[in-house]
Amino acid sequence: MSTLVTGIAELVTNEPELGEGPLGLLREAALVVADGRVAWVGPAAAAPDADRRVDLGGRAAVPGFVDSHTHLVFAGDRAAEFEARMTGTPYDGGGIATTVTATRAASDAALGDRLRRFAAEARAQGTTTLEVKSGYGLTVADEARSLRVAAEVTPHTTFLGAHVVPPECAGDRDGYVRQVTGPMLAACAQHARWVDVFCEPGSAHAFDGDQARAVLAAGRAAGLGVRVHAGQLGPGPGVLLGVELGAASVDHCTFLTDADVDALAASSTVATLLPGVEFSTRSPYPNARRLLDAGVTVALATDCNPGSCFTSSMPFCIALAVRELGMTPAEALWAATAGGARALQDVSVGRLGVGATADVAVLDAPSFVHLAYRPGVPLASTLDL
Ligand SMILES: [Zn+2]
Repeated sequence: MSTLVTGIAELVTNEPELGEGPLGLLREAALVVADGRVAWVGPAAAAPDADRRVDLGGRAAVPGFVDSHTHLVFAGDRAAEFEARMTGTPYDGGGIATTVTATRAASDAALGDRLRRFAAEARAQGTTTLEVKSGYGLTVADEARSLRVAAEVTPHTTFLGAHVVPPECAGDRDGYVRQVTGPMLAACAQHARWVDVFCEPGSAHAFDGDQARAVLAAGRAAGLGVRVHAGQLGPGPGVLLGVELGAASVDHCTFLTDADVDALAASSTVATLLPGVEFSTRSPYPNARRLLDAGVTVALATDCNPGSCFTSSMPFCIALAVRELGMTPAEALWAATAGGARALQDVSVGRLGVGATADVAVLDAPSFVHLAYRPGVPLASTLDL
């Protein structure tokens, strides 16, 4: 069964050879989808026949958003913590323990139901690829089941046993790291594609450079790809460590030294910016302009989680990136699609060239620019083919 999608006023392909600029933008375009993949793309006037026809009526279409950073296996609610923060209590990551308690007490079915609801919520807003981390179990059994639940929803699963040191291990932080790199990793590696660590030496809850290195090296030795949370609350060793270990992505990058920027620019590691976090913690935003001008590959993701940023909306993050991070609308859209695909090292998504997965987000607008031009308006949806 093939489907002709036509009536596309503006089609972003992220394939520069297909159209204008880095977005490979085509006007009055069409594409043909067969067996879940893009089989043809080009001017609507030249489109071949197909078994079925969908007319978008002059709307824009873009690759489905690739949200390469979420924490969606959890239970509980932290609205009170958010309210306190907006009343002046600073964010330091300590509230994660609240979610850990609730997550440990929840059944597998409850965690799975909640995750599926979030995945559907994201899909309804145009997100077609979702990375999901563990990190609210923090015991061997609770981390392993978090990843089992996540793997039912997405192939992009990340072991984050080193999210924070759980309260019961606060007196023996290195002992907890040995647990993460030993039995926890052994139980989790089969359910995960990636290993990640919250490297933030200034935080009382997260991990320093040596601990982060131990976690990432062990994960890599177990066959997992490397990702790092670094530079969220202050500069630290996480960015250089990630680049050294060949990380697919270093995430947050709010506080960077010149050496961090130079190392990212000279590597294939993506800098993933999560501006919803700064919005939701009332913190200074990262400087995307500095990274882009240095030649760093930049991705945008939500970091959707119950503490520091509880949005699943990629369009909201695009609007923030344009308004607050110094990105152009085209750079922000690329970062939220092709950038995310690079951060997940998945070349089948984040683009709409022939052979790509047919993940199409339709915008109730004539141009992708409306994603930033009309913040907060639910323009994006996923095209079900
Ligand atoms: Zn995160």
